[in-house]
Amino acid sequence: MTVVSPPATSWVNWGRNQRWTPAAVATPASVDDLAATVLDAADRGLRVKPIGAGHSFTSIAATDGVQISLDALSGVVSADAASGLVTLRGGTRLRDIPRLLAPYRLAMTNLGDIDSQSISGAISTGTHGTGASFGGLATQVHGLTLVLADGSVVDCSPSEEPELFEAARLGLGAIGVIAAVTLQCEPAFLLHAVERPMPLGAMLEEFDDHCGAHDHVEFYWFPHTTGTLYKQNNRLPGHSERQPLSRGRAWWDDEFLSNTVFAWACELGRAAPRAIPPLAAVSARALGAREYTDHSPAVFTTQRRVRFRESEWSIPRAALREAIRSIENVIDQRGWRISFPIEVRVAAADDLWMSTAHGRDSAYIAVHQYHRTPYEDYFRAVQDIMVGLDGRPHWGKMHYLDASALAGRYPRYTDFLAVRERVDPARRFGNAYLEQVLGS
Ligand SMILES: Cc1cc2nc3c(=O)[nH]c(=O)nc-3n(C[C@H](O)[C@H](O)[C@H](O)COP(=O)(O)OP(=O)(O)OC[C@H]3O[C@@H](n4cnc5c(N)ncnc54)[C@H](O)[C@@H]3O)c2cc1C
Repeated sequence: MTVVSPPATSWVNWGRNQRWTPAAVATPASVDDLAATVLDAADRGLRVKPIGAGHSFTSIAATDGVQISLDALSGVVSADAASGLVTLRGGTRLRDIPRLLAPYRLAMTNLGDIDSQSISGAISTGTHGTGASFGGLATQVHGLTLVLADGSVVDCSPSEEPELFEAARLGLGAIGVIAAVTLQCEPAFLLHAVERPMPLGAMLEEFDDHCGAHDHVEFYWFPHTTGTLYKQNNRLPGHSERQPLSRGRAWWDDEFLSNTVFAWACELGRAAPRAIPPLAAVSARALGAREYTDHSPAVFTTQRRVRFRESEWSIPRAALREAIRSIENVIDQRGWRISFPIEVRVAAADDLWMSTAHGRDSAYIAVHQYHRTPYEDYFRAVQDIMVGLDGRPHWGKMHYLDASALAGRYPRYTDFLAVRERVDPARRFGNAYLEQVLGS
C-alpha cells in the first residue's frame, strides 16, 4: 500500500546545495501502487518525481509535487546465472546488489566511486566508473519496466518498444518511473589493484598507454602540486586468490587519511586558504603505493564522508592533456586555493542517446569543492574550458548549460525529446532542472 506522508519541511541532497519542498511524499510498495500514485498525482494536478538516494548535485531530483521514494520496491525479481540477466526492483541500492547477486555468482560489470545510489537514480543520470573498454552503468541495462505518466505499466528493451527503451535507460527521470531494471551481469570477478603516486607530466604522457594496457584506470591530480595518485585495476577470474588489504591498512588509508584527516585539512584550508597548497603537497605524498586483490565491488567503491560539491565533464579523450593544463592555468591565474583533487577517468564510446560518452571514447574530468567553500566561480571557469573542448556535463553534477547549449552536443537529443513528448506531453515528470536542460 502506498504511504503518503504530509510534506516534509524541506528535502536536501547529499551535497547540501539543493533544497526543495514536495507537496507530498509517497512510498509505493508494489508496481500497482506506484501506478496508482502517478494517477492520483495527476488527478490532483501535481507533478511527480521519483527519488533515489538524493546523491545528485544538480536539482534533477527536486520537485514541488509528489516525491516518490522507491525504497519499498527493492530486491531481486528474477535472476538467471546462466545468461547473467538479473531483474531488480527500481529502488534497489547499489550497495545491496553484491549481496543480492552472490547466490548466482554474478557481478555488475563496472561501478562508480560509491555505492549509495539506487540503481534507477544511477542509470538515469549516466553514472559511470572508469575503463577505456567499458561504458557507464546504463550500458549494462538490458530491459526496463516503466510506469508512464498515464499510469500504464510498460516493459521495454532493445526488441520491445526500442525507442522508449533508448530514451528511458538514461532518461534523466523525464520519461517515466523505473519500477524494475534488468541488468546484464557477468560472472563474479576479482580486481587486482595497483595504486601509486606519479608526477603529473608523466601521467599525462603515459595515460593513454595505461588506458590501453589496463582494464580500469584513473588518476587524481592535487592542484598546486605536480603530484597525482594513479590507480589501475585489472580483472581476474572469480576463483583467483583474494589478497585484500589488511584491516589496519584499509582503515588507515580509506577511513583515517581519506576521510578523517582529509576533513581536518578541508576545514583548515577553509579557515586559512594559504595553507591549502602545502596541505595538498602533503596529501599527494600521504597516500602511498599499495597493491591488493579483492572482490570487484570492494575495489571499485569507497566511502566518501567528507561532503563536497562536484562538476564533471566528458570530453573526447584526445583533449585530456589540454583540459588539465587549462584548468591548472586558470587556478593559477585566478589565485584560487583548491583543496580537493581533480579526478580523471575514462569510458568507451557508447550509443545511449543522452550518454555523456555517446559516440566517442571519453575522458571524464571531475572538479570538487568542500561543501563549506564557494564553488560557483571555479565550476563556471572549468565549464568555459570544457565547453570549448566539446564537453558534455554529467547530468547529476553541477553545470550551468541550458537546452540551447546542450542540444547540439547530443546527436540523438531531438529523438529523446520526441519520446518524451509522446509519453509525457503534460510534463508530469517535469521540474525546473528538466526545463533548463530539455526546454519546456
Ligand atoms: C559522493 C558521491 C559520489 C559520486 N560518485 C559518482 C561516480 O563515481 N560516478 C558518477 O558518474 N557519478 C557519481 N556521483 C553522482 C551520482 O551517481 C548521480 O548523481 C546519481 O544519479 C545519484 O543517484 P541517486 O540514487 O542518488 O539518484 P537521485 O539523485 O535521487 O536522482 C537522480 C535522477 O534519477 C531519477 N530517478 C531516481 N529514481 C528513479 C526511478 N525509479 N525512475 C526514474 N527516475 C528515477 C530522479 O528523478 C532524478 O532525475 C556521485 C555522487 C556523490 C554524492
